[in-house]
Amino acid sequence: MTRSAIIVGAGPNGLAAAARLAEHGAQVTIYEQGPHVGGAARSADALGPGTTVDLGAAAHPFGIGSPAFRHLGLESHGLRWLHHRYPMAHPLESGPSALLHPDLEDTSATLGEDANAWRLLHRAVAGHPLESLANATGPLLRMPPHPALMAGFGARALWPAGPLARLVFRTEAARALFAGSAAHSMLPLGHPFTAGFAVLFGGLGQSLGWPVARGGTQAIINALMQHLALAGVQVHTNSPVRDLRELPASDAILLDVTPRQLLQLSGTGIGGRYAEHLRRWKYGPGAYKVDYLLDGPIPWRDERTAHAGTVHVCGNLAEVTAAEHEVGSGRLPGRPFVMLAQPSAVDESRAAEGRQVIWSYAHVPNGCTAQAGALVDRQIERFAPGFGERVIGRVETPPRALEDWNPNLVGGDIGGGSLRGTQQLLRPAPTLRPYHAGAPGLYICSSSTPPGGGVHGMAGWHAARAVLRDWGVAVLPTRSPAAEPRPGSR
Ligand SMILES: Cc1cc2nc3c(=O)[nH]c(=O)nc-3n(C[C@H](O)[C@H](O)[C@H](O)COP(=O)(O)OP(=O)(O)OC[C@H]3O[C@@H](n4cnc5c(N)ncnc54)[C@H](O)[C@@H]3O)c2cc1C
Repeated sequence: MTRSAIIVGAGPNGLAAAARLAEHGAQVTIYEQGPHVGGAARSADALGPGTTVDLGAAAHPFGIGSPAFRHLGLESHGLRWLHHRYPMAHPLESGPSALLHPDLEDTSATLGEDANAWRLLHRAVAGHPLESLANATGPLLRMPPHPALMAGFGARALWPAGPLARLVFRTEAARALFAGSAAHSMLPLGHPFTAGFAVLFGGLGQSLGWPVARGGTQAIINALMQHLALAGVQVHTNSPVRDLRELPASDAILLDVTPRQLLQLSGTGIGGRYAEHLRRWKYGPGAYKVDYLLDGPIPWRDERTAHAGTVHVCGNLAEVTAAEHEVGSGRLPGRPFVMLAQPSAVDESRAAEGRQVIWSYAHVPNGCTAQAGALVDRQIERFAPGFGERVIGRVETPPRALEDWNPNLVGGDIGGGSLRGTQQLLRPAPTLRPYHAGAPGLYICSSSTPPGGGVHGMAGWHAARAVLRDWGVAVLPTRSPAAEPRPGSR
């Protein structure tokens, strides 16, 4: 008998869940509230005709190594990863930018007396990136697919990144590179487990890279949609779901939403302790996004920075620590941590010839209503004097506007919920069945479940497995073909 499933929300997790269920013969229908599929992985011409701006995610260390995406073979549906000369750069006021090279040995060689410590911290992930991702992109409370690797990773990961960087590194460059990667956690750098983000992001950068998708992040979604069309999945856009009782009958409903939205839905049948846990769910800091159109590359003081895919704009370890501490305490820092991507440096399709699309966002308190755009301008200008004169177009998207666009981005939180305390390990509730949503046949598959934020589709992939197991269907193994050698790696 053919089973049927409904997916609410067409973000990368909803789409990946649909793909896995369809692969096992289920009839799948997706309902998306907005006019377009893709969630926070969409791109559009937000800086005028001819531009391609990533409205959410831009850089893809997780996307390129995602077990789900590799299994689905998105490259055969037109997805192309583009790599910069450096996956990441971190400008410093005291000297040249610190540069993450695509190869661990090349980065280590630039770090002088910190070469050995850098190598030791990143060797396991850089040497086994796909296995490390398979470990890191599943529920943490389970036997990982590569236990020995996970044990080594865990020993490094549980440290707070700031104190660890001060303990093991002597150079400003190594400390800054480590702090910048740790800041992807959006946690104060004194928080346990922030070193895990630094080691994972750094290790992936020095092996798989932090590529952009040719034509914008939308290309990942387009490839997923092509796959789903061939699998017969039906998609309804402009179809917000408010009451589950209004949906057609199905054997399972998977919700690509966060806890607050789940509680607002009618007809879920959830209650008791599960609902209580969802009510206590905490959202993380917000993103204040600023996209720029420039008439040329950013005039970085260290011009090698223009060849980096992602740039962490904030300053040295002390400055990153201070900025993240302020945001963690609910205050807007004067010098916020800014994540910046330069896709045009490798993807000429993003803007007309000679022009550059620059994507950036600052870490700000959740729901921040202050005008933070000028702070982002100033942070970039500190390390790239003359930047402002290059700007010919500009769009600001504050946290509230992000949430208006995509209700999963509560208060501008781009990760589906804070990673503070137990929320990193136990998402969205303290249970060994994180994808079961507290009522029979109901599942949650968004970034509020393991492994959390990022365009990897792995929450959806694991949620689909939970559904298939409940149906008593034998689940096909995930095939993850070996990584392609990439330019710059040995
Ligand atoms: C500014 C920004 C920068 C980011 N940068 C990166 C990056 O560089 N790299 C990276 O890997 N990740 C990045 N991320 C995070 C990444 O985009 C998200 O973690 C990822 O998109 C989460 O996928 P999801 O499917 O869980 O949810 P989403 O992508 O948020 O999709 C959820 C979908 O559900 C729909 N929906 C919600 N409620 C309903 C309803 N009631 N009915 C119907 N539909 C509904 C929404 O409209 C949306 O389309 C970024 C995100 C943002 C916003």
